[in-house]
Amino acid sequence: MTATTSASSVPGPNAARLPSVDRILRLPALANFLPRYGRPAVTRAVREHLQALREQGCDAADLEEPALARALAESLARQHAARLKPVFNLTGTVLHTNLGRALLPEDAVAAVADVLRAPCNLEYDLDTGGRGERDALVEDLLRELTGAEAAIVVNNNAAAVFLALNTLARRREVIVSRGELVEIGGSFRIPDIMQQAGAKLCEVGATNRTHLRDFEQAIGPRTALLMKVHASNYRIEGYAAAVAAAKLCGLAHRHDLPVVEDLGAGSLVELETWGLPHEPTPRDSIAAGVDLVSFSGDKLLGGPQAGILAGRRELVARLRKNPLKRALRVGKETLAALEAVLRLYRDPDGLPERLPTLRLLRRPQETMALCAARLAGPLQAALGAAYEVRTRPCLSQIGSGSLPVARLPSVALAISPLGRGAGRALARLEQALRALPVPVIGHVQENALWLDLRCLHDEAAFLAQLAHLEPA
Ligand SMILES: *Cc1c(COP(=O)(O)O)cnc(C)c1O
Repeated sequence: MTATTSASSVPGPNAARLPSVDRILRLPALANFLPRYGRPAVTRAVREHLQALREQGCDAADLEEPALARALAESLARQHAARLKPVFNLTGTVLHTNLGRALLPEDAVAAVADVLRAPCNLEYDLDTGGRGERDALVEDLLRELTGAEAAIVVNNNAAAVFLALNTLARRREVIVSRGELVEIGGSFRIPDIMQQAGAKLCEVGATNRTHLRDFEQAIGPRTALLMKVHASNYRIEGYAAAVAAAKLCGLAHRHDLPVVEDLGAGSLVELETWGLPHEPTPRDSIAAGVDLVSFSGDKLLGGPQAGILAGRRELVARLRKNPLKRALRVGKETLAALEAVLRLYRDPDGLPERLPTLRLLRRPQETMALCAARLAGPLQAALGAAYEVRTRPCLSQIGSGSLPVARLPSVALAISPLGRGAGRALARLEQALRALPVPVIGHVQENALWLDLRCLHDEAAFLAQLAHLEPA
């Protein structure tokens, strides 16, 4: 719009010699653009183009129809392209928060499409014909998979923790071990969320060691609950002690207080079964006596972004009545995807094949090695002599704070710039890979760009777009 204003108010020296917007819009070469992009977008693109030509001192003689059509086609396609789009996650982090975390199974994608295309029984009880509860659609599955009496779903795990604290501990105290005052990704910190939820944090113990007596001494008339937080993204090693859930629950229940546990990733299955490191499960927490557990839908569970709260019926009923629940609730897309993913857990043996997150985490190193052998040559050819492509063993991470110290053996293509100005060449390479139709995201280490092949989901598409690569 600025272009229009300045074009009409401050005409350049050659302004008069360029044809009008209307005349250009009538050119046969532009006939396809109007039905495709609509008149306002095409008009704007023509104005901007004319303005750019004016600034370069061009006149009508420079305005060739094919060149104009090409330029407009390019700018319209660029403006029309989706901003949120698929990328290749070759960072080596499987559950990458910045790249959208878990990939959903096809069943879940289809379930989302179904409820988006047609009306659905989101809050309508098909048995009674009365108003239904949206969370009830997945509650039975969640009860079955966690052993809890009741469950609800909110926007994400941060919202789940917030809702639990606001409902159960507003204007009262929550006792937490100093070793569990977690920060996740900068903006989620237990002390801050506690404050925003209106609860007072009562920290006990030391960073490395907290004992049952520390909790016991802190319990007073203002105590609302005892809280455990899973140290998702760090580990305290050496001279360390934490209070096990069962012991903490024993103490809390003797004082008629509930225990709330933020599990973070909260895998629904024993990951050891598939050779992965142990991650605590909601079922174990519930069995140990925890009254309410919360966990994410899009971390190890492998589903859509959601926060799940499972636990005692009476507590879940109170969460449901909090007016904030309405503000934190999930949409039908989320529930459709979550239901489809949870259903897969009823047949755990089928999970490694059917759940993309588990499939990616279990992908054997040989698979990535074979993939590297196929891709190294074509990638080297596309990059030319200024870069060297080497196949290197590497370690992938699970990501999203899950199992922080676990590393999964993988294989990467490591690209090093040759010759002088390597730093700038590396930055140009990253930029060129990001500019591809499906952007390729890797990570820089030891003056090379590493493309970890664990999460390469479409090798043919990766190869096909190498022709567009322009690193120079
Ligand atoms: C990841 C995590 C959260 C935040 O979960 P989101 O689903 O990203 O909101 C909260 N607590 C712990 C312990 C976590 O690991």
